[in-house]
Amino acid sequence: MAEDINKIGMYICSGCEIGSKIDVEALTETASKSSKCDVAKTHPILCGKEGIDLIKKDIEESGLNKISICACSGRVMKDVFDFGENILLDRANIREFVAWTLHSDADDEDKTFLAEDYMYMSLEKLHAGNVPVPHIEETTSKTVMIVGGGKTGLNAALNAAETGHEVVIIEKEDKLGGWVGKFKKSFPTKPPYTDLEESTINDLVSKVEGNDKIKVHLNTAILKTSGQPGQLKVEFQNGSAPEEMVVGAIIQATGWKPYEPEKLGHLGYGKKNVITNVQMEEMVANGGIKRPDGGDIKSVAFIQCAGSRDQDHLPYCSAVCCRVSLKQAKYVLEQYPDAKVYILYKDMRTPAQFEIFYAKMQEEKNLFLTKGEVVGIEEGSDGGLKIDLDETLLGENITVKADMLVLAAGMVPTTKVDEAEEADTSESEENVETPAEAELEDGKKPAATGEKGAQILNLTYRQGTDLPTLKYGFPDSHFICFPYETRRTAIYSAGCVRAPMDSMNAERDAAGAALKAVQAIKNIEIGQAVHPRAGDKAFPDFFLQRCTQCKRCTEECPFGALDEDDKGTPKPNPNRCRRCGICMGACPERIISFADYGITQTGNQIKNISMPEEFDEKPRVLVFMCENDAMPAFDIAASRRPEISPWIRIIPVRCLGSVNVIWINDALSSGFDGIMLLGCKFGEDYQCHFVRGSELADTRMENVSEKLKQLVLEPERVQIHTIALNEYEKIPAILNDFAEEIVDLGANPYKDL
Ligand code: SF4
Ligand code: SF4
Repeated sequence: MAEDINKIGMYICSGCEIGSKIDVEALTETASKSSKCDVAKTHPILCGKEGIDLIKKDIEESGLNKISICACSGRVMKDVFDFGENILLDRANIREFVAWTLHSDADDEDKTFLAEDYMYMSLEKLHAGNVPVPHIEETTSKTVMIVGGGKTGLNAALNAAETGHEVVIIEKEDKLGGWVGKFKKSFPTKPPYTDLEESTINDLVSKVEGNDKIKVHLNTAILKTSGQPGQLKVEFQNGSAPEEMVVGAIIQATGWKPYEPEKLGHLGYGKKNVITNVQMEEMVANGGIKRPDGGDIKSVAFIQCAGSRDQDHLPYCSAVCCRVSLKQAKYVLEQYPDAKVYILYKDMRTPAQFEIFYAKMQEEKNLFLTKGEVVGIEEGSDGGLKIDLDETLLGENITVKADMLVLAAGMVPTTKVDEAEEADTSESEENVETPAEAELEDGKKPAATGEKGAQILNLTYRQGTDLPTLKYGFPDSHFICFPYETRRTAIYSAGCVRAPMDSMNAERDAAGAALKAVQAIKNIEIGQAVHPRAGDKAFPDFFLQRCTQCKRCTEECPFGALDEDDKGTPKPNPNRCRRCGICMGACPERIISFADYGITQTGNQIKNISMPEEFDEKPRVLVFMCENDAMPAFDIAASRRPEISPWIRIIPVRCLGSVNVIWINDALSSGFDGIMLLGCKFGEDYQCHFVRGSELADTRMENVSEKLKQLVLEPERVQIHTIALNEYEKIPAILNDFAEEIVDLGANPYKDL
């Protein structure tokens, strides 16, 4: 931690309408009288050259080490208000929080209180804060490890190698190429987009094998992955003796597996002449299409969405099956030109240029594309199939007869544990230790999100041995904002393990994930957080002398950054940390803080907000506002100049999960009449940028509510609300309605105690 000295300079801008709403001269005068402020100045355009030069000159001449900019939102002008890594900066948002949202009912006193509160809060925040010192390990690896040598893995390897990084590919099979290497032809990728193409996977494999930055391990399994980004220790085996290497970041590109056809009995699987699309590819690659019972092929039917888009099977679209069936129809027509081919679909999905291929295929005289719902399948005595269709475009039921039936089965990520495997695991889990589990120091099973997973990476993280998954078994951290991110820092997923996609999209995914992995390695080298708080330096300090080993921090950290010793004391892995502050919010002993975002900093801000004694005139409402969606939403709303209740004071927080209950207690005992937490949506379709932060906050608020009841205080005084960025129009009403509700509830009875 940096030396604890305070030389604070406060600079108040009067531009952007601030000067017309706030008496900036008076505010500067008040600031200059504070014992915590060494220099206070105002300027009409602080972000202009003259304003910045003024600040820089003061830093140099007066030895200022902490600067408060009372001006626009801290989300803008970041590059302008950057005074170097030795200066602790705070941005007091008096433009959006005060000038742009000033209520027409606010009298001069309200305006003064409002602006002064944000000014004092900034001084308190700086006074109790310190310049963050980055956590830099002496040695870190720059190597990118890629798990999976299919189309995605190969492209990721080439992309990472191109940036100068060493790359290691771990492939469990005996050759590179993955699924694409097993297919004879691919969809058209070049103009005129009408003809199937020979696979180019062998060229890609040759490029990888000829690249001296890329090392390939075939027939290899990962036994264990431990450590932290920059120092991930990987134990792997491709012979008798396990080997070990240290890598900086990992891309999991382990792809997909076909949906289990045994579950498609309702679509005829199990009857002798019914196969899947993958079995069709294998036939084509191994000598040609044959009817399994050896009979003639005069007609072939394809059933689309076999398992996909079906709530009882795979609720999602598998993205490629329509195009695969068109391709396989072409295979059939090339080998059996007189055969009739039927594609029976719910909808044909052929995006972008594949529509041209689809249109071209419609010109095939022996190809019949029919929309309908399959309602019955019968096997004839000759081994042929009768497929009954309902809800056709003609509104009639029809029956299609075919010698062979191909089910366009969907894609399942390799991270998804099969139900059978899951059952197996649960029966035997008392007795069987995975290699990773054996390393957990408390000897217990992974907790919290602790899915055993598909045991691909075999992580030794406290919270599970493999990548936590979101919906349907795909490992992703946040499906809206951060593609490739998983909940394990510097471990990315790409290609079909991340989402169903074709090989062209997998190639793009590979490039994205490779860049993320390289970025992560660079950030770790300089001790900075990776997404979403890229650039944050401080890692939380743990004052472990007062730790009661309650394990809340280790259990609640969404990123598995904290392991624990056998007593339950947290064992931080700083490079796994995303700087969300959820551990800080969780700790009942309040012994976790960041140099620049701490329990005391926020506590002191709360305690120094003006608290008029007369509720009837001046109630006070505190809002902890999440910096991820709620703050940007507020900024957008503010640009339209709405009126926001002058009773409200806003404290931006990194995540609602970082809000410690002590802050709520501080606020209630300081006399706040109402408290709101405003952050990202939680639940199944969560939008919390730190996965579980807003949900954890909601759980903690249930306890707060109980406490309020014990104190005979109305639970409505403390509320949690969620908002998405695109709901910015709702912000004024959410805040003003809450302020009104608090006015109706009356004063916090503990106000004057
Ligand atoms: S909870 Fe957040 S801040 Fe705390 S250790 Fe985990 S990632 Fe880091
Ligand atoms: S939450 Fe606080 S008291 Fe509990 S284990 Fe973590 S550091 Fe210790």
